[in-house]
Amino acid sequence: MSTRRTYKWHEMSGPEVAALAKETEVAILPIGGVEMHGPHLPTGTDSIQAEGMAELIAEREPAIILPTSYLNINDEMVRYPGTIAISPELMAQLYEELCLEAARNGFTKIIFLIAHGGSEDVTRFVHHSFLHRRIGDQLGFSVFDLWFYSLMQSDEVLESLPEQLGHGGEKEASLVMHFRPELVDLDQLEPLPEGEGPYYPKTVEHTWYTIDWIRQVPMGYVGIPHISTAEKGARMAEVGADACAEVVRQIKQYDPDRDR
Ligand SMILES: [Zn+2]
Repeated sequence: MSTRRTYKWHEMSGPEVAALAKETEVAILPIGGVEMHGPHLPTGTDSIQAEGMAELIAEREPAIILPTSYLNINDEMVRYPGTIAISPELMAQLYEELCLEAARNGFTKIIFLIAHGGSEDVTRFVHHSFLHRRIGDQLGFSVFDLWFYSLMQSDEVLESLPEQLGHGGEKEASLVMHFRPELVDLDQLEPLPEGEGPYYPKTVEHTWYTIDWIRQVPMGYVGIPHISTAEKGARMAEVGADACAEVVRQIKQYDPDRDR
């Protein structure tokens, strides 16, 4: 475990950034959003999780942490209060330019650490756009998407059913209670019958399509966040960070010339 006081780019001096670039090629971009997550969680729930996980990962396997992307695509959520929606075109351009800036500063392996569902539509576009234009080849950098939720072994920690573990549910609420407990207020939740949540699935099967989420998730969250705890969040975060650090180690060993 490192004793460096910070891995956040914007908390370091210029010379400290340059020194870290000599130590590691890896930059992590925490990708969150600002959107309604029910009455019990802050709108920056995804951003808080992405940034918190980035810090735990960098402490295990050194990497610089780019300024968290609080802004994101969010048009499915605009009928809820508190949501900020940015166009996919602008987000793609922002991610592209952040990659170029990271590479210019010596960080040539950039990880999109994703906490906001839907972000992958934009990040994948960026991957394909770089590939099509051979930009990564020419400038010598590589880009990776990394989701931490699936690496947390949360089924060993949480009590909810898998279908109850989406937006604002026990998993997200427990993680925010771990990272920023003062921002969570479970008393704001309406009482729910155990095992059920205010979730109405889409009606057309076997397709993917966008929908105004307020029709699907009227209260802005799914499942039973009522049973969330900071202890559950801490366990998931530690397991997830260990697994993500292993991914970062693989990325450090990745040779783009061999895999191209
Ligand atoms: Zn979320």
